[in-house]
This record gives sequence, structure tokens and C-alpha cells, in this order.
Amino acid sequence: MPSFETGVRLLKNILIKKRSYSAFFADKTDALHKAFPAKATVHAGPFGIPMLWNSARNFLEKKSFEPRQTEGIAYVHIPFCESRCLFCMFYQNPYSPEAADAYTKTLIKEFELWNQRAAQNSAPIKALYFGGGTPTALEPHNIKKILDAVRKNLPLAEDCEITFEGRLHGLTDEKLSACVEGGVNRLSIGVQTFNTEIRKEMQRLDSPEYIIRRLEEISKIDNLAVVIDLLFGFPGQKGKVWTEDLKIASELPIDGVDCYQLNVFEKSPLNTRIKSGLCQPAATLSEAADMYAESVAHFSSHPNWHRLTNTHWARTPLERNLYNRLAKGPSDCLPFGCGAGGKLFGYSWMQERNLAKWSEMVEKGLKLCHDETSGTLAPHAHTGKQR
Ligand code: SF4
Repeated sequence: MPSFETGVRLLKNILIKKRSYSAFFADKTDALHKAFPAKATVHAGPFGIPMLWNSARNFLEKKSFEPRQTEGIAYVHIPFCESRCLFCMFYQNPYSPEAADAYTKTLIKEFELWNQRAAQNSAPIKALYFGGGTPTALEPHNIKKILDAVRKNLPLAEDCEITFEGRLHGLTDEKLSACVEGGVNRLSIGVQTFNTEIRKEMQRLDSPEYIIRRLEEISKIDNLAVVIDLLFGFPGQKGKVWTEDLKIASELPIDGVDCYQLNVFEKSPLNTRIKSGLCQPAATLSEAADMYAESVAHFSSHPNWHRLTNTHWARTPLERNLYNRLAKGPSDCLPFGCGAGGKLFGYSWMQERNLAKWSEMVEKGLKLCHDETSGTLAPHAHTGKQR
């Protein structure tokens, strides 16, 4: 599989250097395997002009007093993980109880920054998503404090979908209770694969037996939608292993499944291992396309499952997939936390990713980024989350 960045470079070359729109048009002769010359996430316009630094900050400050015009959603980022998975580029900081306590305090201050401003309090928030990193790494006392602060400072809709993302490793009953008592009604768990060898190779910590048992237990909690992510394209996964992953997932008493393609990022530890021959290559794009097609065929043939999006299936009506659906449309998204991404009034931005600098910004009463070399507001183009 070519690295993710190879695809981005190829598309940039076609779109920007050659000034050709050909990359936007699919080759329909074999649409599954080679519709487009490369795969890349489309972020705010290659042709839009971003607003930079102080002008971006001043613009956002001014806009924060204007009421939101569209359906609102909010995203809260928890930038800690207990370990780093080999393939992941979302890892930011190691989890420690002390760092999490300090982060919780600052996050609560950030919820309060705009709580009297119209951009935050003017219209109901229909879906709230805790992503990361690993939100489920937080201890129950911090989960409780954060959820209390959210309810105090954000105008949550009566039927707001509140998702907590994470992993089963270390997800104790106490943490689950803190989530459910605090209003969480959807749990999104990164499983990735049930295969023991691949899990070990990717540094995933729990055995498939434990994961299956724990998912069965958690699925019994009333009014909590349990959704899992699977990734396809891992070294050694194509063929029987992926067929088995799909079979296990579809037979679990969970509410939803997402099937994502693995991206191999150039700077990921996985790429380093593949390059040095320590592990087999990941699936090629063409093989990954076949794995995707198999997931569609598998869930479509299953009477209990129905398709919600290109990559997402639901088994029960508890799974609404509201945040993901609204995030891909024109909704405003209020971001909170170090490294969170959001959008308002047609502009999107990424908050400061450095933990110390983000804390300093919040203490100064500001959102967006810290210094003069970062902090942009870009005209927004719709984009999907890559996991
Ligand atoms: S896959 Fe999840 S738990 Fe693993 S490093 Fe990435 S964000 Fe952390």
C-alpha cells in the first residue's frame, strides 16, 4: 500500500501544480479498484485562502458573539493514551493521572470561556463527541467532573447524542458508571481486529476472548449504544482473517460497526517496521478495496444489520450515528481541548496541539493557536474523519 502522504503528494501535484481537475473525476472502468489516482483526505480548500494568526484570532473572537445559524454539534478532545498503537498518528501524550487531573481543570475553564457568548449558547447542541486519544483512559472522578461541566456550560438538546470514544483496555465498571450517570448514551470502541497475532503486532493490549466477553457485558447496559471500529488492510489480514473479523463483529450483540481502511502514515512506527522488513507489507489499495467490498457484502446479506453510511452499519435503532452524520454536513461544531478541530460560520480550525501551550491559551481566555506561526481559520470544505 502506498503511504498516505504519497497519495496526498500525487493529488497535490495534479490539482495544484498541473492545475488539472481530472483527479475529481472517477475512472468508471474499474471503479472499485482504480476510480481515482490516489487516496487522500480532503481538508479545507486547496484553493481557499486561510486567515492567519492574529487576524484569525481576532475574527474568531468577534464571531463568538454571533448566534450559530445551523444545527450544532460539539467535539471534546482528550489527548492521552495509555500506550501507542503501531499504526496510529493520533497519539499525542502518554496518560498519567496527574496530567489528566490538570487537563480536566483546564478543560472545564475552556467550557466556561464562551458560555455567555452566542456562538456557544444560542442553539441546542444535538450531538457531542469525546474523541482522542483515549477518553476512556480518564479516571471516573475526571469523567464525572467533565460531564458535569459540559451540562452546565453547553446547551445540550434533550435527546443529545453523547459519545465517549475509547478502548476496552482499562475500561472498568466504575468508568462506565461515571459515563452513563453523566449522560453518555453512546460508546465507540476501537477494536480494529479480533485476530490475536495482528493485535499483538500492532501493540493492542487485550486478547480477542477478553474483548468479545467485555463487549457482550457492556452491550447489556440499558440505553447505551455500543459501536465498534474495525480496520481493514493490516499486514496479514486479507482473506480469512478479515472474513473472521466481519463474522465475529456481526454476531455480537452490539449496536453498530464502522469499517475503516488502514492508512499507513510515513512517520508511523508501522511504516518503519514494514520498511525494515520486520513485518509484512499492509494490503495494497486494490486488496483493501476488495476487503471493503467484502464488508459491504457481509453486512448487506445479514438480516439483522442495515447500512447507515458508506462504512457504517447499525443493528439496533439505538445507533443513530448522529455526530458523524452532522459533522459531514454544514453544521457548526464547537471544539474544546488540546488539538480539537471545529468549525463555525463556514470556517474551520484546529486548536493548539501542544499541551502546555494550549493550557496557556485557555488561561489567557483565548481559543485557537498559541504563537505567530500557527493558528489559521480556513474556509471550510466538508471532510470525513480518518481513523
Ligand atoms: S489507536 Fe487509539 S489508543 Fe491507539 S494510539 Fe491511537 S488514539 Fe491511542
